[in-house]
This record gives sequence, structure tokens and C-alpha cells, in this order.
Amino acid sequence: MVLKAVKMRIYPNSEQRDRLMQTFGCARFVWNQMLNMQIERQKNNPEAKFVNAFGMNNLLKRLKEEYPWLKQAESTSLQSANRNLADAFQRFFKGQNKFPHFKSRKYAQSYNSKCVNHNIKVIDNHHIKLPKLGVVYFRSGRLPQGKIKNVTVRLTVANQYCITVLTECENQTLAKTGKRVGGDLGLKSLLNLSDGYKEPIHHFEDKYRKKLHHWEKLRSRRYLLAKQAIAWDYHNKVLAPRQLDDFKNYQKARVMVAKYRQKIANQRLDQLQKFTTKLVKQYDIIVLEKLNIKGMLKNHKLARAITNASWSKLVSILQYKCDWYGKKLIQVNPAYTSQICINCEKSNHRLGLNKSEWLDVREWDCPNCGTHLDRDINAAQVILKKGLATQ
Ligand SMILES: [Zn+2]
Repeated sequence: MVLKAVKMRIYPNSEQRDRLMQTFGCARFVWNQMLNMQIERQKNNPEAKFVNAFGMNNLLKRLKEEYPWLKQAESTSLQSANRNLADAFQRFFKGQNKFPHFKSRKYAQSYNSKCVNHNIKVIDNHHIKLPKLGVVYFRSGRLPQGKIKNVTVRLTVANQYCITVLTECENQTLAKTGKRVGGDLGLKSLLNLSDGYKEPIHHFEDKYRKKLHHWEKLRSRRYLLAKQAIAWDYHNKVLAPRQLDDFKNYQKARVMVAKYRQKIANQRLDQLQKFTTKLVKQYDIIVLEKLNIKGMLKNHKLARAITNASWSKLVSILQYKCDWYGKKLIQVNPAYTSQICINCEKSNHRLGLNKSEWLDVREWDCPNCGTHLDRDINAAQVILKKGLATQ
């Protein structure tokens, strides 16, 4: 059995939006109350043990008596908030995360509903039934398959509603093709394959650069103006000083910036999804270089940062798709792979060039056997050979 998540955008009507906002608010309230309780408890008695999700669910009953409006929320979402908080604490205890923070409605909002008695159900290609909301319209290229476990509803900073449906499916192994491939992660192309194919790097951000820049400028200008106006209100002791929410033009610019960024991120992810699916369908064994994550973090240039992020994403998507579909991903140490000749296996130390000169070389002739080599394709073939040798 494998767990799969499908993310899609939903278009709730105004009544459904109201109910969503209620549940977002209730789940956030429970999270903040429980977090506060954990902090106070620790303060009063440093010896006190952490209250786990089960204990918090018991406290939830009392909280519901004290604040009856919590009953408006989708019922499993409040327990999910407790579970998520407990998970956040566990990650903090293990040193994986920072201390959990209080949630604010200024940022993305979300809640999670458990599937009980088929209350979450895909009706057709464009309609899904969700607890407390009823039938909601959605747009997605893919439908969730298998048994639905839960759904996370999210309102993004771009003011869009999304759901992530988590399902449990039977293992779906793909037919074996007997083919294997090596891949060299590049800067000129995203991935060079040992069979000669080069997956291009698309600069999706170029398409929206002007518009994004325009809205970013407006956003920062309107933010400053709003801050000044708020400061003026406080200075003059206005009874109800304005909040950032009251500045509609600032809010519009903020949403537009988030929207364009989301668009770019979506297109980038779409390319990776399609490319990785193609790879796992075509090949049984895929050999890639092991990424040097520490070395990558040092790089501050934007173009490099984007490529690095795409590489990490590519490798992680490929890893889980190989697991799902019964294929194999091997990662090898990339040292010297671009300098070894695939034909005679001799390592040519940068052909005597310095590092930056060597990086510019696209094609070269092996001094040992005279083979004419494409730098990237040769590297991918060497990586494939290295990977297969470990088997
Ligand atoms: Zn050679």
C-alpha cells in the first residue's frame, strides 16, 4: 500500500466560503489555546510532562463547553489541530523544527478533515463532497484514486482555495522495459540523459517578470503608506486605529504578487511532474549524481538558487515515483564524472584547463583514445556506468 496526495484548486460558493472561514478560525483558535496551555504548564511546573494529542483531545471537550461556537467547526478538524500541534512538538523535541508558533489569520490558513463513513467522496470529474461543505466544484488534471484517508483545505496567500486529498492505493508497479539511464544535472539543461536527450530549463519567471515587478513595487509603496497611516492613527489616539486589512489597495497588490509567484511555481512543478513520470515509465533503473546540499546552500545567485531548488525537487519526486512504480533510483558520487572518458575510462584532469575554463568546455576530444565527446552526455554515461557498477 502506498500513500498518495493529490492537490487541486476548489471554487467554493459564498456560503461555503463562510463555513470554511469558520472552521479555519476554530482550528486556529484550538491550536493557539493548546499551545498556550502547553507553554503555561511548563512555566508553572518545569517538571510537567508534555500533554499528548490524546490528552489535548480530552481538554478539547471542556474548551467546547466554554466556547460553544467551536461546535460550528467541522468536527474532526479540531482534533486534527491537536494532532498537528503534537507532531510539531515531537519534531521540536527531536531538534528537527523550531518551537511551534502561534497562528495568525494573516497567513495561509488551513484545516484537516478525516474521512469517516464516506463523508469525503469524488462525485465526478469536477465535483467532490466535503464534510460540512457539501458538493464543491474543483479543477484538476488528476483525480484522487484509492481509499480517501483525509483532506486538507487551505486558503493560500494568493486568496485561492486548495485541497490536498490523501489516499491509500494498491501498489501500482509499472511494466518493466529493461532500459536503464544515467542523468547529469546541468546548468545549461536541467537534466542530460545518457541516451542523448537534454531536458531544458524553462525560465518561467521571465514570462511574468514585468508584471511581478510592477505589483511588487506597488505592494511595497502601498505597505509604507499604510504603515504611515496606522502610525498617524496611533499618534493621534484615534479610537479604532486602522489595521493593514483596512487598506484594500495594499491587500490587492499583496494578493497579486502571491498570485504571480504561485503561477511560476506551478509551472515549474508541472514540468518536473511530467518529466519524472516520463522517466519512470521509460526506464527501470535511473542513476543520478548525489546532490551536495551543503555546497548548494552557499550559492546566493537567483538563477543558481532556482536551478538548485529544481534539482532537489526533481530528485525527491523521482525517488517517490520510483518507490510507487517499482523502479530503482541510484545516486552516485559525482566526483570526476565529467572528466572521465566513457570510451577508455581514463580520467583527464580538466584537459589541463583551469576550473572556469573547463566549465565552458561543451565538447572535447579524449587525449587518450581520441573519441569526440559531448560533455554532458558523456558525464551522464559515466554516471550510469558508476551506478550499475554498485549493483
Ligand atoms: Zn578516451
